[in-house]
Amino acid sequence: MILTGATVVTSLDPVRVVREDVHVVDGRIAPSGGGARRDCSGCLVVPGNVCAHTHLYSALARGMPYALEPPENFTQILQRIWWRLDRALDEESIRASALVGGMEALLSGTTTLVDHHASPNAIDGSLDVVEESLRSLGVRSVLCYETSDRDGPERAQAGVAENRRFLSRVREDELPLTRGMVGAHASFTLSDETLAACCEAAGEHGVGLHIHAAEDRADERDAVVRCGHRVAGRLDRAGALNEHTLLAHGVHLDDEEIGLVRAARSSIAHNARSNMNNSIGRARLNALGERVSLGTDGIGSDMFEESRTAFFRLREDDGGTGGGWPLERLAESARLAGRAFHEPLLGTLQAGAPADLVVLDYAAPTPLHDGSFAGHWVFGLSARAVRDVMVAGDWVVTDRRLTHVDQRQLAADALGQAERLWRRLEEIGPHEFEPRNGGN
Ligand SMILES: [Zn+2]
Repeated sequence: MILTGATVVTSLDPVRVVREDVHVVDGRIAPSGGGARRDCSGCLVVPGNVCAHTHLYSALARGMPYALEPPENFTQILQRIWWRLDRALDEESIRASALVGGMEALLSGTTTLVDHHASPNAIDGSLDVVEESLRSLGVRSVLCYETSDRDGPERAQAGVAENRRFLSRVREDELPLTRGMVGAHASFTLSDETLAACCEAAGEHGVGLHIHAAEDRADERDAVVRCGHRVAGRLDRAGALNEHTLLAHGVHLDDEEIGLVRAARSSIAHNARSNMNNSIGRARLNALGERVSLGTDGIGSDMFEESRTAFFRLREDDGGTGGGWPLERLAESARLAGRAFHEPLLGTLQAGAPADLVVLDYAAPTPLHDGSFAGHWVFGLSARAVRDVMVAGDWVVTDRRLTHVDQRQLAADALGQAERLWRRLEEIGPHEFEPRNGGN
């Protein structure tokens, strides 16, 4: 395959813009060669976006009815919304959620999803359902099951077992587009035994934990009451902090905790829109260092929108933030995925990189070069410009339509599943699990 006539961004960090054809051979960017040509004249070709933290299981929650008392804090948001939704999920609704979420990812130019899945009443095999769904669309993914003690020790053990089972499958099967991590919900819903079991599974498979950390103050309070240490201290003592581990949010990490996380070279997934939506506070992005990637926490997978919102939120507090910040964070998101796939060039369009790319129908109204691209990203580009998407050399979107499935049928099927899921949800009351708060 040869993509002709486009302006090509071969790297986001540092930015490198060239005007040359893109050659794809055996699923990778190549210096030359390729057969069929696709005319990309007047287009911009960029590396596929990576969403470093999402929850596909929430894809059918959009607009769902809510009849309980409005939640007043983060714990109540979990008890009254997400920990009801996840218990209502069954195999069919997990599949529909993954298909809808995967479809929206591709159509918005996101080629890799790092997902954190929960379905406490359908744990065993759930990651296979997510994997199959994403494979049918052609999405690259890093999957895990969200282990937690909040639904009892049996489900905690089932969560660990599902991660182990899936990681064994990843190791044994040929799943070229999928890798795994060990998922864990958050310190405040994990017993010492379960946390230890997660770390053991991760160590055995040479992968990291994917866990919410210090998203809300309640997580920190619970850790202190539980063991006398804050969240990162608890995770560090359990052996959970290392270069493979991914911490989602990290909003309330203090200086000492940030020191632990940075010393361990663990990654942070920053979820700006989710943090704002849940009123949990602002992550200390400048203190957190280089390993900050961007996720949506389930608010779709549009990384143009997420990165732009994160940038404006940061600029509101720190006007010195450079325009390249969103590109650096997206490049780090791709490096995170690249580490999971042992593909250090993932997220670039350099020769040898996996051919994960997006063709944007974008007629730049001002000069576009290395020095101006960040301005185009923040002030001009959006998912609206996504025309074609390639993952591992496979066209998964052409002319704004999915190539492997009928997207109208997919959406119609999801609608039926959403109605069913919402009816099931009405029967489920608020979750009773509470973090420990030391009595205040
Ligand atoms: Zn999350």
